Amino acid sequence: MTTLGTIPFTTATSTFDARSKVRLAVVALGADDVTATRTSTAVSQIVRHVLSLNGPGSMEVSVDQCRSRTTLVLELTSGGPIETPAFLASFFDSWDTEGDMLHLRCELGVGGVDELQIRRARALVAERSRDQLMAEIREQNEALEQTVHERTSELEITLGELEVQRQAADQANEAKSSFLANMSHELRTPMNAIIGYSEMLTEDAEDEGLDEMVGDLNKINAAGQHLLSLINDILDLSKIEAGRMELYLETFDLRQMLDDVASTAHPLFEKNDNEFVMDAGEEMGSVHADATKVRQALFNMISNAAKFTEAGTITLRARRESRDGHDWFLMSITDTGIGIPADKLGKVFEEFAQADESTTRDFGGTGLGLSLTKKLCEMMGGDITLESEVGVGSTFTIELPTDVGSTPAATD
Ligand code: ADP
Repeated sequence: MTTLGTIPFTTATSTFDARSKVRLAVVALGADDVTATRTSTAVSQIVRHVLSLNGPGSMEVSVDQCRSRTTLVLELTSGGPIETPAFLASFFDSWDTEGDMLHLRCELGVGGVDELQIRRARALVAERSRDQLMAEIREQNEALEQTVHERTSELEITLGELEVQRQAADQANEAKSSFLANMSHELRTPMNAIIGYSEMLTEDAEDEGLDEMVGDLNKINAAGQHLLSLINDILDLSKIEAGRMELYLETFDLRQMLDDVASTAHPLFEKNDNEFVMDAGEEMGSVHADATKVRQALFNMISNAAKFTEAGTITLRARRESRDGHDWFLMSITDTGIGIPADKLGKVFEEFAQADESTTRDFGGTGLGLSLTKKLCEMMGGDITLESEVGVGSTFTIELPTDVGSTPAATD
């Protein structure tokens, strides 16, 4: 006896699968159409019968070649004794039961079958049925769902932990920011006293001709000014972080503001022997923004340019531009100074960040000016960008809406 394979039956559709597999297999074994139809109908009848009475089971399909007669042998098992129905006589040549197994024999009216026919028939019986495929897909889906479920739970736990940490960090940050914002008065008052008294004492010392003391008093005054500007930057940054920095919008003449900042910065240009060039129209119209903050941002850029350039040129360019129906004004400061390495271009806008650790030693500074400038620009819906090349120079460009408050932010 040669086994062709086993066909499981679990649902009503398995009846059709078993029927068509057997039909194709017996045709492959050389049976004619009438025999194929009779055999496959027999299979669907018995499988349906067993399935309805005993439930799911399986059917082993074999061929028996004896004395030039080929017989199809079916062995059905279904988890219990199978009752033999009366219709078996109309379809099968013989049948018997052995334990829980039902043996059925059906002659195919074929002489001998060769190896090739057996192989074809085997392949047809072995083909996975639609039911089997569905069951496999269902199984894989369930496994996938289980994995997704597990990962989702893990993720939810992690997210929950992160949220707790974030809240703690937010609270700490808020506490720090409001502490610093509240310290504003406490820090500025004594600094102003130091600066004011050192100026008074300088005047007295000058009157009395105490030159040595004038030098020392000037040092106290310069250190006081430096400390005050540092305190101011820190306080401004913490105010922004705490959401306490407010905008005071007013309408002012753009060209007038540029001239004011340039004249305030004049001593800085002289200090390092730099030439200053103003490249802006005489009539630039007015803008509606926070004038103090625009001035502060521009002054920060100019004083950096003056600090990092020696015997070079510092150019202030300004122009208006229309984008998507909104008016913007752009102010750029170009210097011919030391420049910034490409890998540090993004870093200089971070708090306390300097392009080079040696910067503080050589030029002083704290690394706060640009991060504050960027935040001020962003508050007004604008931004600051930078282009630079080491040894050639840098260009910082501030872009702001001409009517702050009515224009979508630059980052939108
Ligand atoms: P500070 O100048 O107080 O150190 P800033 O935030 O204003 O802080 O600047 C950060 C750093 O960016 C500076 O330390 C310097 O390394 C670099 N930088 C800023 N402006 C210039 C410039 N015009 N030329 C070269 N480097 C600059």
